[in-house]
This record gives sequence, C-alpha cells and structure tokens, in this order.
Amino acid sequence: MTIKDIQELLEAKGVKPSITRLKILDYLQRHRSHPSVDEIYRNLVQEIPTLSKTTVYNSLELFVENHLAQVLHVGDNENRYDADVSSHGHFKCLSCGKIYDFGIDFENIKVEGLEGFRVYDKSVYCQGICPHCKVNEKEVTNGKYGKRRNAYRQN
Ligand SMILES: [Zn+2]
Ligand SMILES: [Zn+2]
Repeated sequence: MTIKDIQELLEAKGVKPSITRLKILDYLQRHRSHPSVDEIYRNLVQEIPTLSKTTVYNSLELFVENHLAQVLHVGDNENRYDADVSSHGHFKCLSCGKIYDFGIDFENIKVEGLEGFRVYDKSVYCQGICPHCKVNEKEVTNGKYGKRRNAYRQN
C-alpha cells in the first residue's frame, strides 16, 4: 500500500488523514510484528519530532474504532496493534516475545455456556515457545511458566 492508498483508506472511513495518522498506519501495515505504542513512537519520532506517545495511542485507538486495525491484549500491560483485521489467532512466544499469526476457523469453535449471549468479539490467544526459541527452552522453564509447561509435557 502506498501513502496515497492509505490516505484514501482513512478518508473512506471518515478519518481525517493527517500526516501523523498516515505515518502511523503506514508503519503498522509494514510491520506485521504487532507493534506496541512504544515501538511505533520510537521508530517514528525521528521523522516526526513533534510526535508524542499520546498521539500514537490516540491514532491507534481511532484506527481500531474504524476497523482499520485491531488491538491485542497479550499481557505485559501493553497493547499491541495489528493492521490485519481479518479473523486470526495469535501466539506469543514467552522467550523472544514475538507474536505470530495463525489461521483459525472461528465459526467452528465449540463453545458451551454462552447460549443467549451476544458475542461482539472473538479472539484466540496462545502462548508458549516458538520453533526458533525451542533450542534455548531451558531458560524459560525456570520462569513462572515452568510448571505449566512441564505439566503439558507429560501429556
Ligand atoms: Zn521465540
Ligand atoms: Zn495478527
């Protein structure tokens, strides 16, 4: 997507395409690593010296409201953002902190106990160790996820 495409996308959603918003959405579309407010701020502040973390946060929340991005709540008290608004699951590696996308059929997940509820938002979030970190697995087993991971291993 070019900046022009992004501008049109924002306009189509009725969002005023300020330079800052264009840059933030452009960053989010180019970096599919589910960046945080901090990461986006750090990478754009050189280019936009007037940028503040509040502006980054407010812009991202505006994108979420207008379905241009989705927000992930993946612990660490830090929201992560995703320009891919299609339904997919997320896997967080507890070793490298990377968040991976995976495909999931949300329509066919068996849910019990929500009869009569109206569901607005579905998300699937897994955490564990990614294949790249598996070699260094021992370091993580000593941490707070040690017990759970050992239990899992016995299955
Ligand atoms: Zn990893
Ligand atoms: Zn994602």
